[in-house]
Order: sequence, then structure tokens, then C-alpha cells
Amino acid sequence: MRQVSVNIRTTGVRGIHRVVEVTSLAEQWQDDLQFLVPAPDAAAIAQVENWREKGLRNIAVVGVEGLEEGDIVDLDPGRGKATVLFRESDVHHSLFLTNRCNSYCLMCSQPPTRQDDGWLVDQAIDIVRHVRVPPAVIGISGGEPLLAAAGLERVFATIKDYWPETAAEVLTNGRLLHDARVRQALFGDPPTNVRWLVPLYGHADFLHDFIVQSPGAFDETLDGLLTLQEMRQPIQLRIVLIQPVLDVLDELCRFIGKNLPFVECVALMACEPTGFALANRDICELDLCDAGPMLDRASRVLDRYQVRHVFMNAPLCALPPRLWPRATRSISDWKNTYADACTKCSVRDRCCGLFAWHEKNWKPTKLKPIEEAIA
Ligand code: SF4
Repeated sequence: MRQVSVNIRTTGVRGIHRVVEVTSLAEQWQDDLQFLVPAPDAAAIAQVENWREKGLRNIAVVGVEGLEEGDIVDLDPGRGKATVLFRESDVHHSLFLTNRCNSYCLMCSQPPTRQDDGWLVDQAIDIVRHVRVPPAVIGISGGEPLLAAAGLERVFATIKDYWPETAAEVLTNGRLLHDARVRQALFGDPPTNVRWLVPLYGHADFLHDFIVQSPGAFDETLDGLLTLQEMRQPIQLRIVLIQPVLDVLDELCRFIGKNLPFVECVALMACEPTGFALANRDICELDLCDAGPMLDRASRVLDRYQVRHVFMNAPLCALPPRLWPRATRSISDWKNTYADACTKCSVRDRCCGLFAWHEKNWKPTKLKPIEEAIA
């Protein structure tokens, strides 16, 4: 998430606001929303203060810094910061429901915490209410969002109310779907327009359980996948490409083809070089180019079983050209960057690029700008 330093000109305001230009305030006005007006000059500040004095207490003024019309921000006046939680111009959008998790994955990009953070569900609902232009797709993640299953159900209901056309994608390890209360909360009235993104890291319990550092997780995740199938919910399986997973990738893809043919898609993802991946660098850092033959073989196995698959977080110069059509621009906008070398690359426009922290940590491969588009 982007953090912007702001000069908040109105005292006593905090929490979720929609950024709106003073000229479009009247058109967007709703008395149950909070608005933040970037004021370019003293006259604009005075105008907004005047409205507040007349009773419009849900408007705040801020200096003009780094915010865009339609941004949904969380204001923290104590630190003079606004966290941008939703930006209309982004390609990827997400709601974050908890930082708690029941797994402890070796390459987790966002290590879990134990504190009660139930307020995040209310914040997510507030974000949905404040957004001006609904996104086509909203990601819902954590931590493990099923730890807040009742809250997740409320988020689904709010999305259905406010953004009826929006598809939700829930990133979950699926383990809690074996719990009858979780199933009841989520599937008493099964959601429509929801897709479930579920990681699977091995074709046997000891492999998957090792990666997620949780005994019993493999069986629970498979149970969860079968529950989702029974509920006719679309599933994308996610495989993060770290060394112990690459070592069994063929077998894992065969296992998926034989036993989980109902999944809609498999995403093979390069590891994000942050969080626990830094502590487990010996098994998480690899050159994707070296893994090219293994990725090609995995793709052929999945093709043989007619399982649709994509590559995520994988720059084109790291992949065999045969796999380029399956590569997606998957890195969230606020995490995404390109290296200087990319400026002279002919496929930059369709390449996912790099995680912003590649400089500090590691690159997925030695970059090789492509001179002419191959595919
Ligand atoms: S050089 Fe940069 S833009 Fe080109 S394929 Fe590699 S990462 Fe992508």
C-alpha cells in the first residue's frame, strides 16, 4: 500500500475518506460518506471550512500532495499520513481482511501476526462503500481470510450490494473449509461471482506441510478444494516456484491433472523477494531462467491433462518464448517496477516487470532486454 505524507488542514478527522476535487464535490455528495478535498490555495481551504461550519462535518481539507481523485485513503493525523487503500487508476485492487494466519509458509511475503485485527473487516466494508468507480475484479486477502469467515461473508454481501458487477477473488489456503461453521457462514447462501485462489505446494502431505510449516495442512486443503467443488465454486490453484516445489513440479502437475481436474486454472508464480523468503533465501532465491526447462515440462504435463495454466510474476526474459502467451502482468501496481535495462526492451508493455524491492533483495533472473518481439 502507498503511504503519502499529507498536510491535513482540518482538525479531528481520521479514518476512511474518498478524495474528491472541490469542483466535483456537489455531484458526488452523500451524507453517509467522508470526503477529503485537496485544496490548492487559501481560498479553496476557506470554502471547505465554511461548508464544515455550516454543518457538512464529513468533509476534510488537505494540501495537494500525491493523491488522485477517487483515491480511498485512511487518514492518520497523528503521523500526518494518508494510506491509499484503493486507487481507481490501478489495474489490481484488493481488500485486506486480517494479518493472522493458520499457516507459516517458508516464503510468505507478509509474515502473519497474532493480534486481534477484526477492525480490518469493517475497514474493508468502509472502503467498498466509499469507492466511486467499482473495479471489475477485487482481490480479498490476508493473512488467511477464512479466519474472519463471518466478516468475509459480510464483505461478500457489501460487494454484492454496492458493486453488483464486480468479481471477487479470495486468496485462501482453504484449510478452514473443513469447519462446519465456516462452511455455513460462507455457503449457507453460496456466493456468486467469487473465485477461490488456493495454494498447493506438493503432491504428498509431507511436501506441502513442510512448505506451509503446518502438519495436517495438505489434507485440510484437499478437503477445502473438494468442498469448493461441491459448492460449484471456481478455483485457481497457486504454485509458488521455490526450490523444494520445483523439485517435485512434474509430479505435482500430474497429481493436479489426475485428481483435481475440476480446477479452472493453475498459476505458477515466481517468489516475491520479501518477508519470510528473505529468511529462507537458500531455497527461495533461484534464477527462473535456469528453471525454464522444468517450467516448460510442467506446462506440457498440464496441457496433457487439459488444465489451463498461467505464469505470474515471471518476466518474459526469464521464460522460454513458448510460454510467453501464458505470462500475465500480475504484480500489484504499488509493488511493480521495471529496471533501467527494461527501457530498451521491445516486450516491456506485456511483461510483468519486477517487484519494487528487487534491488534490495534479488531479481528473478539476470535481465536480458529483448530486441525484437518473438511471440
Ligand atoms: S528486460 Fe525487463 S521488460 Fe524486458 S522481458 Fe526482462 S524484465 Fe521484462
